[in-house]
Amino acid sequence: MTRVGIGYDLHRLDVGGKFILGGVDIPHDKGFVAHSDGDVLAHAIIDALLGAAGLGNIGQRFPDTDPALKGVDSMLLLTQTMELLRGAGWSVVNVDAVVVAERPKLNPHLEAVTRRLAEVMWLDRCLISVKPKTSEGVNAEGRGEAVSVQAVVLLAKD
Ligand code: MG
Repeated sequence: MTRVGIGYDLHRLDVGGKFILGGVDIPHDKGFVAHSDGDVLAHAIIDALLGAAGLGNIGQRFPDTDPALKGVDSMLLLTQTMELLRGAGWSVVNVDAVVVAERPKLNPHLEAVTRRLAEVMWLDRCLISVKPKTSEGVNAEGRGEAVSVQAVVLLAKD
């Protein structure tokens, strides 16, 4: 049995703070404004995983009103999501994601990002794809005000 899931997230950027993507702290003059660490890639993947498994959504599992989740490392949320999926008998076939960001240039960081995600998700690196795109200078992403991510995952169960 296989199931597909889709996830989307967007976070605003502002001067200061950290630009953490897929658990990797990437040097940039702006950081994410969020209740958690603002890891927009992790959040989109979590929502895709939960959606595919029929286990709700990230807002239900990890509410942004929960004081315990203030500034939380999203890799912990991803770990908990993977444990939830494993408990339900699901394994991940692959992950594919598009990160829309005008800056910083992400290609030099993709190896670190996919390595980190693979580690946290107990997957082979070749099963995780992260593709950076610019927004051609238009929209919030193009103006450098936000970064958005779309992710799809495929799950399998015997
Ligand atoms: Mg989010």
